Amino acid sequence: MPHFTNAPNDKKLLLASPRGFCRGVKGALDAFERALNEYSAPIYVLYELVHNRFVSGEMLRKGAVFVQSPEEVPEGAVLLFGAHGVGEELFRRAEARHLHVIDATCPLVKRLHRAAAELSGEDDLVIFGHRSHHETAGVVAHSNAGRTFVISSAEEIRTLPELRHPLLLTQTTLSYHEAERIAQELKMRFPDLRLPGGVCNASLQRQKAIEETAAKAELVLIIGSTHSSNANRLREAAERMRAKALLIETIAELPEDALLGISRIGLSAGASTPDELISEAVRKLNSLGYRSGPEAV
Ligand code: SF4
Repeated sequence: MPHFTNAPNDKKLLLASPRGFCRGVKGALDAFERALNEYSAPIYVLYELVHNRFVSGEMLRKGAVFVQSPEEVPEGAVLLFGAHGVGEELFRRAEARHLHVIDATCPLVKRLHRAAAELSGEDDLVIFGHRSHHETAGVVAHSNAGRTFVISSAEEIRTLPELRHPLLLTQTTLSYHEAERIAQELKMRFPDLRLPGGVCNASLQRQKAIEETAAKAELVLIIGSTHSSNANRLREAAERMRAKALLIETIAELPEDALLGISRIGLSAGASTPDELISEAVRKLNSLGYRSGPEAV
């Protein structure tokens, strides 16, 4: 563990980089803004466009209506599918209602859809993901494999039967450590396992950055929503480095006593956290005497 002092003039703010919006989230939000300009409100959005309550609140204010199924949308209206992607069946249901669909699925999630769809009945697909996450459900829905299994932990590997021509796909926002462990253990059990890739590069880079930052910090703040998979993985990555870590929606949620005796604070944000919430946190911490480098805003 590094040595920390509590001298008041030694307060440091360590900004993890990269942090905040990934390209997939930016693309989905741009698609929403374009839809507003082209068709005007309301724009119906399936589930949540991205997992951030602040972003969803702003979208509601601008004219988004969040729905849980295409059947809730009036015939002929505009329906946006978010960054996490959906199965073909949802496109068909939207078409049956003559909806104008805008597909803002992240291209990296689409890659998983294609890999799952290219399988045949002779193959088995294993997905490392959270069963309740829309991204995992979307990949399952695209699978043409003979059998598709979802596992959420390495412990579940032993519950799998013998597999034929197995392929492993990973939910893009999970822990890269856990994804590597699962890939290795599955490969040991099924030597012919095909591994087209693990978590997405945006998740990988953000997790590595927070590990580096957390190694030098006593407390790490992650700005993001508690239901955001990637923000939770950032908190866990910081904890793995033995830093205390808090996941908070905005800096206003920071408990008053959290900074007592803390000299070095690390800061990062989930891939669906907007820049303004990060800037607000930096300004607040600066005002409390935590000085960052030239990146400070
Ligand atoms: S986290 Fe990765 S896969 Fe998910 S939207 Fe962002 S870039 Fe795309």
